[in-house]
Amino acid sequence: MKILVINSGSSSIKFQLLQLPEETLLCKGMADRIGVNNSQLEYKTQAAQIKETLALNNHQQGLQKIAELLLDPKVGVIQDKSEIAVVGHRVVQGGSLFAETTLINDRVKQEIQAFADLAPLHNLPNYAGIVVAEQLFPGAQQVAVFDTAFHQSIPEVANQYALPKKLYTEHGIQVYGFHGVSHQYVSQQAIQYLGLKQSKIITLHLGNGCSMTAVKDGQSIDHSMGFTPSTGLIMGSRSGDLDPGIIFHLVDKLGYTLDEVNNLVNKQSGLLGLTGYRDLRDIEAQVGQGNRDCQLAIELSAYRIKKYIGAYTAAMNGLDAIVFTAGIGENSQLMRASVCTDMDYYGIELDQDKNQQKSEGVQEISSGTSAVKVLVIPTKEELEIAKQAYALIYND
Ligand code: AMP
Repeated sequence: MKILVINSGSSSIKFQLLQLPEETLLCKGMADRIGVNNSQLEYKTQAAQIKETLALNNHQQGLQKIAELLLDPKVGVIQDKSEIAVVGHRVVQGGSLFAETTLINDRVKQEIQAFADLAPLHNLPNYAGIVVAEQLFPGAQQVAVFDTAFHQSIPEVANQYALPKKLYTEHGIQVYGFHGVSHQYVSQQAIQYLGLKQSKIITLHLGNGCSMTAVKDGQSIDHSMGFTPSTGLIMGSRSGDLDPGIIFHLVDKLGYTLDEVNNLVNKQSGLLGLTGYRDLRDIEAQVGQGNRDCQLAIELSAYRIKKYIGAYTAAMNGLDAIVFTAGIGENSQLMRASVCTDMDYYGIELDQDKNQQKSEGVQEISSGTSAVKVLVIPTKEELEIAKQAYALIYND
């Protein structure tokens, strides 16, 4: 079965075409800068690679162009659109309603639109991707895989804020959690690798956005992002955890508007705010040149992560493994080493040599005597979406 996976953002559409159950990647790519000048299109198969600048005014045009490439006699990987049996969509916010991957119908589309109140930057582009895919691939089943679904298992004790109850019961103000597809994929890979029936794992998704999950026996029981993805760890441009009093101070004393605060917290803070650089590669290069702010930003990030490891170890009353994933987690030896330094009280000991090696699959970088395994596992969110869509259709 050929499954097209679509991750539709405000100005981009990432896609992969996968053959299931073989888990073969047929092609992947991205339409970027949609609706902005100089849109970019990248497309890659085993035999061909295309990168072009063109005009893509909206998601309809972006996906249309992707479909043309899939069908192209020279570089395409299908002969007819009907070969695509399923389109799997990543949807960021499914509220409390969607605890599982779901076949899309009119009601589901309405709910996804309605949850845009909770995640306007994400759900509206996700919705746009669904509508366009329905038009372009009318014969395919459309499936929604929700980033919040994996975290629906977080118990009340961890998903409620200490605010007046009716904000929870009537207005849905609670922890939803994000990056669920990634946390689910890597935690399952870790459980398989460790061969444990009962397991206590902490997954660290460290990319542009950063989050951590306490995964007990395969289920998310706590997570560092909350009602929105702004909270928790220090990220590329988001502050993570913040005293809400700062917001009042910014508005009352420093004259910020709420829009400006929103922009400050989500787009100007985190690593960018601390150093002037959003990308950890730039920050690491600066550390090499003795930039103290950059050194401190890495220490602050690692310190925050260590505090969460402590909290989640307490929440699970134990720890078998921690898993690093995503751009920073998979690639930054420095961040991994900073997180794992002076953690022997928690049974975490890194093997410095192994930390410097890179491999494709699950990589164990803890020392032979470490009570807790430290793993690096590349996240494969598109594969996880395809697997979940396949399981839904196949099991039906
Ligand atoms: P992601 O959101 O998962 O694509 O991760 C993107 C982030 O990963 C970038 O902003 C970089 O900060 C980080 N990253 C990617 N490659 C490296 C690397 N080789 N070393 C350090 N950080 C990296």
